[in-house]
Amino acid sequence: MCAGMGRYLLDRMLSYATEREAFGEPIGHNQAVQWPIVDTATELHAVRAMGTDMLAAYEAEASLSDLDQPATARRKLSMMKYYPEDRLFDWADRAVQVLGGYGLMRAGGVERVFRVARNLRIPAGSTEVQKRTIAKTLGLE
Ligand SMILES: Cc1cc2nc3c(=O)[nH]c(=O)nc-3n(C[C@H](O)[C@H](O)[C@H](O)COP(=O)(O)OP(=O)(O)OC[C@H]3O[C@@H](n4cnc5c(N)ncnc54)[C@H](O)[C@@H]3O)c2cc1C
Repeated sequence: MCAGMGRYLLDRMLSYATEREAFGEPIGHNQAVQWPIVDTATELHAVRAMGTDMLAAYEAEASLSDLDQPATARRKLSMMKYYPEDRLFDWADRAVQVLGGYGLMRAGGVERVFRVARNLRIPAGSTEVQKRTIAKTLGLE
């Protein structure tokens, strides 16, 4: 889900940065506009790879869906629950910034993803509680 919304945000940033001109050139010619887009493309790749790895782990470890999971499975699940959601929030924030005033407008679409991204960090177990689980599996509690 996060990767899909991330792809949408990346596409929106790319098209706006190449089409919108300011001071006689596309805004995407500026490094300040390129870097948030580059960071998003890189992190999106990492989140996708993480999802693929998680799917492989799920298929390999039947115990992953048990309540009595081994620590490694609990750690992976919590990492998978919080990390993409945190990244999606960063991507949405960058997309709003790259699209400028248009990014804040409801008609632009990106603003809606920003609101969804902000919400996601709570309902399925908050980011803090996922990190607490990870800390426990690392022997920190
Ligand atoms: C739209 C929506 C849909 C939801 N759907 C479901 C659902 O389908 N099933 C379900 O079971 N629940 C669901 N929930 C509930 C959701 O799981 C909780 O809102 C969430 O776990 C946070 O609990 P809380 O709201 O009581 O916040 P609180 O527990 O009051 O937490 C407040 C803040 O303190 C932090 N915090 C709390 N305890 C700790 C701790 N020990 N260590 C560090 N930080 C901590 C939290 O991370 C958060 O930032 C949903 C919530 C929402 C908003």
